Amino acid sequence: MTHYADMTTAELEVLHEQLEAEYADYCAKELSLNMARGKPSPEQLELSAPMLDVLNSTSDLLAADGTDCRNYGVLTGIPEARELVGEMLGCPADQVILASNASLNVMFDTIARAMNEGVLGSTPWGQLDKVKFLCPVPGYDRHFTICEHFGIEMINIKLNDDGPDMDEVERLVESDAAIKGIWCVPKYSNPSGQTYSDEVVRRFAALKPAAEDFRIFWDNAYCVHHLSADPAEQDQLLDILTACEEAGNPDIVYEFCSTSKVTFPGAGIAAIASSPANIAALTASMNAQTIGADKLNQLRHVRFLKDGAGVAEHMAKHAEMLAPRFKIVADTLEADLTPVGVGSWTNPRGGYFITFTGPAGS
Ligand code: PMP
Repeated sequence: MTHYADMTTAELEVLHEQLEAEYADYCAKELSLNMARGKPSPEQLELSAPMLDVLNSTSDLLAADGTDCRNYGVLTGIPEARELVGEMLGCPADQVILASNASLNVMFDTIARAMNEGVLGSTPWGQLDKVKFLCPVPGYDRHFTICEHFGIEMINIKLNDDGPDMDEVERLVESDAAIKGIWCVPKYSNPSGQTYSDEVVRRFAALKPAAEDFRIFWDNAYCVHHLSADPAEQDQLLDILTACEEAGNPDIVYEFCSTSKVTFPGAGIAAIASSPANIAALTASMNAQTIGADKLNQLRHVRFLKDGAGVAEHMAKHAEMLAPRFKIVADTLEADLTPVGVGSWTNPRGGYFITFTGPAGS
């Protein structure tokens, strides 16, 4: 087959007519496809249905520390659930706060706090003339919506195969004190699937921001979301909290995650992990906001998933369902588009997304 780029205008016109007819056939099927991004299938939700049976009226509803999960108390989450999330992220449980049912909410709150209260004693961002964030692109649209909501100016940063363009990140962060943050989806990035290299993670950890209240918003939404259970087929991400601590920069990062695509989106447990100083400041602020998140849901998750190994086992079942679907997309793109030389696409080893880049002007 000839590459489209090598065809004459007359040939392309004939082809265009054929393709329009093919396209009309698809339209005639009147398919109603839900194209919402990153939404687990009903079969995937079934994997976690038994979690709804692990607690009932006769269950022991005490957490490991004796807390009655039906009652008020425990602002930062029950210890065994903090432990579970710590294992997912690879950080100590006491550096994890469990908050609400979804991580987007925790990210929004973290920015709202910085706007209202500042960060570790800095001037509240809301009192500054200008607040800017670096936004590696392509990125997660809802991160950008949060920035828009708070009137934060966004600066695009190129996302390479190994992570954001760090020369540009360093240049900007280290010279402009109005830059207060950067959004990162460091593993199986939404939407292009990259995982940041160790070097990129270390360069993040070693940043010397012009703003003392600059924070990396490390949205590790896909921390355990591999498409294969074989470790050789999985991307590995260096732990940012450890890297920052080693670089003498422990407070520079907030890390987020949730069980939205482990158990139930919107009915999971979400977390923020950070340095002891940041955790203490966040806890003090949250103390005015809530008495605590849903501990029964935390308990349900721990009894169902058990520990890091249990999470990996559960994620392997998701992978069994997802991997063949990723393969169908990759095989179809390859079979139909490679011969005609159109577009490029990613082949991620985890996460939820394949990014397709069309030819310029298409
Ligand atoms: N971060 C990223 C990068 C995501 O892709 C998603 C879901 N699409 C979320 C956060 C939302 O997670 P949650 O359900 O925990 O709010």
